[in-house]
Amino acid sequence: MSLELGSSGRKAALVPFVLTRSEHTLSRRHIDPDALKILFRLRHLGFTAYLTGGAVRDMLLGKTPKDFDIATDAHPAQIKKYFANAFIIGRRFRLAHIRFRGGKVIEVATFRRDPGSDDGSAGGEPGAGAPTHAFGTPEEDAWRRDITVNALFYDPGTAEVIDYVGGVADLRQGRIRVIGDTAERFREDPVRIWRVIRYAARLGFRIGAEVGDEILDSRQLLAGCSEARLFEEFSKDMLGPQTRTVVAGLREFGILSLLLGRIGSAYESDPGLFAGVSALLDIADREKALHREPGLGEMSVLFFWPWVESLLAGTPTDPATILRKEFMDAEMAVALPKSLRAQAIDVMVLLNRMVRGLRSGNMRWSLRGRPQYPQASRLYFLIEQHRAPAEGESFESLFHQAFPERPLRESGRPRRRRRRKKPALQ
Ligand code: ATP
Ligand code: MG
Repeated sequence: MSLELGSSGRKAALVPFVLTRSEHTLSRRHIDPDALKILFRLRHLGFTAYLTGGAVRDMLLGKTPKDFDIATDAHPAQIKKYFANAFIIGRRFRLAHIRFRGGKVIEVATFRRDPGSDDGSAGGEPGAGAPTHAFGTPEEDAWRRDITVNALFYDPGTAEVIDYVGGVADLRQGRIRVIGDTAERFREDPVRIWRVIRYAARLGFRIGAEVGDEILDSRQLLAGCSEARLFEEFSKDMLGPQTRTVVAGLREFGILSLLLGRIGSAYESDPGLFAGVSALLDIADREKALHREPGLGEMSVLFFWPWVESLLAGTPTDPATILRKEFMDAEMAVALPKSLRAQAIDVMVLLNRMVRGLRSGNMRWSLRGRPQYPQASRLYFLIEQHRAPAEGESFESLFHQAFPERPLRESGRPRRRRRRKKPALQ
């Protein structure tokens, strides 16, 4: 390896380490055809254009990337000029989104150097000021990224992988390393702490002792990030792959309690409760692998359900009010949008009725009229049966199997008996 990170975190060589076509398994055939077209078009226009980020990392590991990000020396205005379907976005750093049919978006960002803080996407801290146009070289662009395995470039022209930061060695050794000085990079943008844990968990890579210690020293900084940005990261983990392992990683570093207040503390201190969370996230991850992705609403229910179930164990008379209050009092740093929270509470109240209903044989079937009922029915299967419902299966069919003699039409409230008029005495 021609390049190592010095302990000062400064780069030790200007010449990148290069993997030639025959030295890696990344094939052009696995690159999204639209991304490839953009890359070649930019090259023909005389620009440098590389595939970068998660796409290069995942393809080198033989995985299918989620999205294909491009880095180039073309400036946003030039990208806009040459691509009719390009839209300039970004608060702190302008970059182009090239949009395709079916909602596909390819992000094309100009090489830049590190002005500090986030990835420059719309996720930048609100109110952070005007966009910073600190354009840079490919090398500077690699150095401003978060972890070494995320900072590789793939040149479609030569089919070479270009590595300025030691990412290839880390990829081979299954190691997550922060680019530059770890403490400083965490201070610049504490969300990187979360990202280190996320990619270690998703890739099954190890976090070295030094980085691990730095996470423990710096983790408190996460609480100072904007609630909206933290929610964005939370959503990425709920919707992304391997939620179970990522959440376990966050718990291991004591970050769940920082992010989710009392709920996170309960999950950190009670292994039984957390075993419940793990089991549900595992089911969700299996569903994702089968391309039956639960949405954010369903994932939130699965994530919070063990905590909610413990709160409702004493059969309170008004579970919805209790849950609303408990969520309000939880002091979460991650701000769940009000509508998401309200919907999740409605579904969980219904679920609670269903769980009890199927245990006791008493169900208030009028609840079937609630708009959340179909979702609650599907979630019932995931939570109680540890599987998705098969075609044509529903909560009613389970109930009918368990209590074949009970009608599904009766209402939970005892019917008012009509008094028969006593026959008039004669
Ligand atoms: P995936 O999309 O599979 O989750 P990714 O590595 O592509 O993984 P993104 O969040 O899409 O992750 O970010 C794209 C790239 O931008 C990363 O690979 C990394 O190089 C850089 N990046 C993202 N966030 C940061 C950050 N907070 N600090 C520095 N670089 C970042
Ligand atoms: Mg990505």
